[in-house]
Amino acid sequence: MSNNMAYFDNAATTKISDNVLAAMMPYLTENYGNPSSIYRLGTESWRAVAEARAKVATAINCQPNEIFFTGSGSEANNWAIKGCMENEPQSAVITSAFEHHAVLHVVKKRDNITYLPVYDDGFVRLADFTRALENNPDTALVTIMHANNEIGTIQPIAEIGTICRERGVLFHTDAVQSVGNVHIDVQAMNVDMLSLTGHKFHAMKGVGALYVRKAVQRRLGSFIRGGAQESGKRAGTENVAGIVGLGVAIEEAVSDMERKNAKLLELRQRILNEVAHIPKARLNGAIESRLPNNLNFSFEGIEGEALLLQLDMSGICASSGSACTSGSLDPSHVLLALGLPHEIAHGSLRLTMSKYTTDEEVDLLLTKLPIIVAKLRAMSPMWEG
Ligand SMILES: *Cc1c(COP(=O)(O)O)cnc(C)c1O
Repeated sequence: MSNNMAYFDNAATTKISDNVLAAMMPYLTENYGNPSSIYRLGTESWRAVAEARAKVATAINCQPNEIFFTGSGSEANNWAIKGCMENEPQSAVITSAFEHHAVLHVVKKRDNITYLPVYDDGFVRLADFTRALENNPDTALVTIMHANNEIGTIQPIAEIGTICRERGVLFHTDAVQSVGNVHIDVQAMNVDMLSLTGHKFHAMKGVGALYVRKAVQRRLGSFIRGGAQESGKRAGTENVAGIVGLGVAIEEAVSDMERKNAKLLELRQRILNEVAHIPKARLNGAIESRLPNNLNFSFEGIEGEALLLQLDMSGICASSGSACTSGSLDPSHVLLALGLPHEIAHGSLRLTMSKYTTDEEVDLLLTKLPIIVAKLRAMSPMWEG
C-alpha cells in the first residue's frame, strides 16, 4: 500500500491481484460470448469456465464436476445447508456457536439444532461432537467452519469428517477464510461440501464456489432453477470474468503459499512481540493451529470502535471482528462464544494480513498502536491504570 496507509483487514476482503485482473479483462471486453452459445465466441467462454473449474478442483484436490460456481461464499453456505435441510425436513443439525452468520442465520430455522460450544482457545472439541451425534441419532447435516473469520483458529475438520463419513451424515465446512491461506484437500478432510469465495484470496467480489462430493450430489437439490448451468443446479448465465479470475487467484495462492506464509509468520511475530509490551493486552484464541495471517487482541479498558477510529485517523485499516457486524454495537458473537465477558468482547482488534502486507505497513501499525492504546486509556472511565 502507499506510504502512510496500512491495510490490516484481509479477512474482510482483499485486493485483486494484477494477474487475476489481466486474466479477467478479455472476458469483460472482446470475449463477451455466452458460454451456452454454440459459435466460437460462446465456446471460448465455455472453455474459459471449464479451465477455471479445473483449476479450482486441482487446488482443493477434487474432480472438476464436483465444483459449482456461486455468487458468493454466503450463497455457497446457504445452498449447502438449505439444500440438505429441504430433503430431510425433520432431522437434526449440528453446528458450532461461532460460525459465520451466513451459516447461523440459515440453520436457526431448524427446531432440532445443536450448537457445539467453543472453548477459550478457539476450538470445538471432538468429545462434544460425538456426544451431540449420540444424542441426535437422526442428524442429517453437520456444518462446522474450517478457520474462524475473527480469530483464525482451524477446527479439527478431518476428525469430524471421518466420524460423519462412518455414519453417513452429510458434512459441510465453511472454508471461506482458509482457501488461499492454507492448503485445502477435500479428500484428506473427509468433507462432503465446502464453501469458498474469491474475494478473500485476491479474486473479485461476487464469485464463489461450493464443492460437492460426487457421491452426495443427488442429496443436494438445485439452488436456482432455470437454465442448465452448473449441471442444472445453479441456473443463470455464468460470471465468466469473475470465474476466470477465481481460477487464476486460487492457482496463484496455492503455488505461492509456502513463501507467502513464511513471510506472514515473520510479520505476525513482530506484531506479537510488540503487543507483548502493552499492559493488559490479550490474544484471543490460541496461536497454534491458526491462520498465519490472523491476530485478534483485546485491550482492557478500551472500546473497539474508538480504537478503530483512531487507527483510521493514522491511515490504518483494521476491524473489530467481522465486517458484517461492525456498524452494530453488538459484541462479537465469536468472542462471546469463547466465553469472554461483554466488555472484553467489545474491545477487540482483528488484524489480518495478505501477501501484499509490507514491513512498512507493520512499522506504521507498531508505531501507532501503543500510543493510541495509551491515549484511549487515559481518557477512559473504565481504565484505572
Ligand atoms: C467472508 C466470509 C463469508 C462470506 O463470503 P461472501 O463471499 O462475502 O458472501 C462466509 N464465511 C466466512 C467464514 C467468511 O469469512
